[in-house]
Amino acid sequence: MLRFAFAAVLNIVRIPPSHESGNIIPSAVGLQLCYEQVFHHRCHMNKNESQNSASSSATQQPVVVVGAGLAGLACAHHLNRAGVPVTVLETADAVGGRIRTDHVDGFLLDRGFQVYLTAYPEAAAMLDYDALALKTFYPGALIQLDQRQYRFADPWRRPLASLASLTAPVASLSDALRIAQVRRAALKRADGDRDDPQITTHAYLRSFGLSERVIDRFFRPFFGGVFLERELNTPSSFFRFVFSMFARGSAALPAEGMQKIPEQLAAKLPAGTVRLNTPVASVAGDKVTTASGEVISCRAAVVATDFSTTARLLNAPQPYSWNSTTTVYYAARRSPIREAILVLNGMGRGLVNHVCVPSDAAKPYAPDDRALVSVSIIGVPEMNDEDIDRNVRDELAAWFGNDVTAWELLRVYRIEHALPVSPTAGSTTGRPAMEDGVFLCGDYLEDPSINGALVSGRKVAEAAVRKVSPESQSVPSE
Ligand SMILES: Cc1cc2nc3c(=O)[nH]c(=O)nc-3n(C[C@H](O)[C@H](O)[C@H](O)COP(=O)(O)OP(=O)(O)OC[C@H]3O[C@@H](n4cnc5c(N)ncnc54)[C@H](O)[C@@H]3O)c2cc1C
Repeated sequence: MLRFAFAAVLNIVRIPPSHESGNIIPSAVGLQLCYEQVFHHRCHMNKNESQNSASSSATQQPVVVVGAGLAGLACAHHLNRAGVPVTVLETADAVGGRIRTDHVDGFLLDRGFQVYLTAYPEAAAMLDYDALALKTFYPGALIQLDQRQYRFADPWRRPLASLASLTAPVASLSDALRIAQVRRAALKRADGDRDDPQITTHAYLRSFGLSERVIDRFFRPFFGGVFLERELNTPSSFFRFVFSMFARGSAALPAEGMQKIPEQLAAKLPAGTVRLNTPVASVAGDKVTTASGEVISCRAAVVATDFSTTARLLNAPQPYSWNSTTTVYYAARRSPIREAILVLNGMGRGLVNHVCVPSDAAKPYAPDDRALVSVSIIGVPEMNDEDIDRNVRDELAAWFGNDVTAWELLRVYRIEHALPVSPTAGSTTGRPAMEDGVFLCGDYLEDPSINGALVSGRKVAEAAVRKVSPESQSVPSE
């Protein structure tokens, strides 16, 4: 019955597009109405029918998306807004992919410390910031040099504090002036200048005449913490994008954990769109097969898994490698920083790259009488949890004193597959990629970031709408 209805609708969709028929309804809206007839039918099946169709060996959907990370959810969101029915198959027990939050003894532990940048343009258009209750960090950082911390403030937002920064052994006056030039160049890029030199971030910073001292003490730990590599080999185009985002907005955490971001996107989809605990075993342009053997035929298949899984599903070579990270969480009686700010390791030695206290920014990250300390390490050390813990405490005793001995280790997250190392990061081609008739979707095709994943999802949705309905122009803008 469902298949019959779908075939009927496909015929309806093939009626002449609006410009030929003189129909004043834009074709995208017409498409929406047609698909809604099928969708309506699907929504109004009774529970038994619905269960039968889910367990049958061959079902059908116009578009099937594999993966409910941000890219897959964004793709489904835009398809849904264009009126194209979509099913999202997710292997995990919740949405979010690389953005998940665990609830442990009253603490919120993001699976790997990460932040949301409020200036992300794609994300800002899609997310409801008020509902996320974003809590921001100080614009700048504390830099740990041996036993002392020095404040390094954003001069545009904390001018007085930044004057004091000039006395710190981090940046000279000439460095400060050059950072202003770097900032200007980054903002030009955010405003559309894509004339990026194909060089590394380190070479780019040196091309402005910045000293190795300011690079080592600020740029390496700060942007190394973003790129998850301290060599600063990441393409300068991505650096310019990220720098402009820090200049235009704030680093923030949703009050209830990073997973609230994907959850907010998923909540906009019609009930039943996302099927959790449904690993996909293989994908072709016209069908998706789950690990349990269910075959879902479709007019467009979208693989929105990370690139390693995508390569496995499509029998293709792995195009990129990964940057890794380790996050160690501690419960403390009181915050060692007492401020929502990052403390960077400016010394160039040791395991720890940066430390912060998420509960200083967003209170719900810890119970009332505790603070949550987050310690970020770049890469994954070949050590067990005990050794990582011992090394971290040894180092941090010099930063925060003997209190660290009383901290309680909550969890160690080793994230081997954190960020794709893409030589084209930050210089997107603007076209969604395809492999054997399957749409590819994910952060590795754009910028390896929350924003990049969302951009990729939208672009693929636009291409998939064109495929399932050539008459349609685009998905409606937010
Ligand atoms: C530790 C860490 C720190 C980060 N820091 C930041 C930061 O500060 N700021 C920032 O902007 N970005 C940051 N990022 C990057 C950002 O989180 C990612 O770019 C983004 O979440 C990627 O989304 P995605 O949808 O492309 O991929 P993923 O999130 O990897 O989604 C892929 C989905 O596919 C699912 N899947 C896999 N295999 C199958 C299968 N066989 N069948 C069905 N489903 C499958 C997965 O379970 C997952 O849900 C960080 C990432 C990590 C891990």
